Amino acid sequence: MKVLIIGAHGKVGHLLIGELQSNNIDFVAGLRSQEQINAYQANNIPTQFIDLTASLEDIGKSIKDSGADVIVFSAGAGGAGYDLTMEIDLDGAIKTMIASEALGIKRYVMVSSIFSDDRSKWAASGIKPYMIAKHYADEHLRGTNLDYTILHPGALNNDDSVGKIDVLDPEKAGSIPRVDVAKSLAAIITNPHTIKKEYTIISGDTDINSAFN
Ligand code: NAP
Repeated sequence: MKVLIIGAHGKVGHLLIGELQSNNIDFVAGLRSQEQINAYQANNIPTQFIDLTASLEDIGKSIKDSGADVIVFSAGAGGAGYDLTMEIDLDGAIKTMIASEALGIKRYVMVSSIFSDDRSKWAASGIKPYMIAKHYADEHLRGTNLDYTILHPGALNNDDSVGKIDVLDPEKAGSIPRVDVAKSLAAIITNPHTIKKEYTIISGDTDINSAFN
């Protein structure tokens, strides 16, 4: 198994590197600039250039060159504006799904969002275009032949790990430290039971390593 982390320079992506290292899972960090690549390589982290605004062909080449057989999508435009939200969180994500299918890669883990499937919550979220982008990226993924898992974390924070989560009914709300999202991703990647499943998670009472069984 070799995991390509798309969004490895991001907060969750960076924490996932640590989790994969501690679990001895082979990975490559997907990064979008030479500066990022130089910085990660200086810390002996394997890297792969990937820019989600690139053509489908170039994204396919990046994924192929990574040698990965598992994709984790943890990228996002963040606060860079809704044009980029459409380009990264929606079109960029879908391009990686199309490329993965074309390359015969099966396993694909998406970091989505809580309430991405609940239209009644989108207006009040204050980030409706983002919610729509996440919703339709997830919808595309469900229609692929990929062995997907979709994780819907609640509001992310930078608190220390709680190590315990609740896998929720998607009606409830809550928050979760990014490090526990990273731990959840590491648990999902190694658990075939999670294929074709979706999980809404916030901090809670269940040990992460048993939450996805
Ligand atoms: P983050 O720190 O903003 O990381 C996002 C990463 O995406 C960054 O490393 C960024 O690269 C990368 N990226 C942006 N444009 C790109 C491009 N064109 N090509 C390749 N990579 C690109 O986000 P996070 O806090 O770790 O969140 C991880 C995931 O959780 C995201 O998918 C987010 O939508 C989702 N999520 C967030 C919340 C929340 O409460 N914030 C809740 C639920 C889910 P640079 O570092 O170069 O900018």
